[in-house]
Amino acid sequence: MSGVRNTLNRSTSRMGSANRTSAVASSFVVADGGQCIGCKACELACFAVHGQASGIGASIGTVSVPVVPKVYVVRAGDTYVPVQCRHCENAPCAHACPVQAIRQEDGVVMIDEERCIGCTSCVLACPFGAIEVSPVYRAGHVITQSGLTHRANRTALPRTAASKCDLCAETENGQPACVEACPNHVLRLANGISDSPPEPRREVFFPRL
Ligand code: SF4
Ligand code: SF4
Repeated sequence: MSGVRNTLNRSTSRMGSANRTSAVASSFVVADGGQCIGCKACELACFAVHGQASGIGASIGTVSVPVVPKVYVVRAGDTYVPVQCRHCENAPCAHACPVQAIRQEDGVVMIDEERCIGCTSCVLACPFGAIEVSPVYRAGHVITQSGLTHRANRTALPRTAASKCDLCAETENGQPACVEACPNHVLRLANGISDSPPEPRREVFFPRL
């Protein structure tokens, strides 16, 4: 979080005080989909950063759980597009969550994994397809859901939780890991801060000739 906050602070410090009231502090990673080669280096870098807190190895031969990133590279024909959260200002996923597990902090939409019940309401509400619900791992082992068992063999079922891009809240250098890892410079952090007043609607729809 502090990395993103530092980036935002750097951006706002460049703005004149007269314009500060029009600033909108929402950050998100944008992608030039036409340049993506589908190498998935962004997915692996994302997994490595977020797996550190769970004690999951992130170098070759040490990964003991499925690679579950928070950025998803999807393929449509011969085209690859990295998909991740746009940190909407009025986030529909947060409105859809029945247990208030999603909150916005300094413009970043965050999911509280501990509070999440894995209902998938946020998955359905997200207009970008940026949220996945997947099993929760700790120290290389899947966490089971107390009282939830497989109907046929009575084995314990995994606890699931929603997961999506949090702009690398864990890192301190202000750059999400996927942005730094991409060999084709497809990804960049857009701070979404406007230092000029919004154009009047009339100018947008009826431009001067
Ligand atoms: S999956 Fe979790 S975060 Fe998403 S709406 Fe359900 S409880 Fe909320
Ligand atoms: S690292 Fe870059 S080129 Fe590779 S899949 Fe991700 S966005 Fe595409």
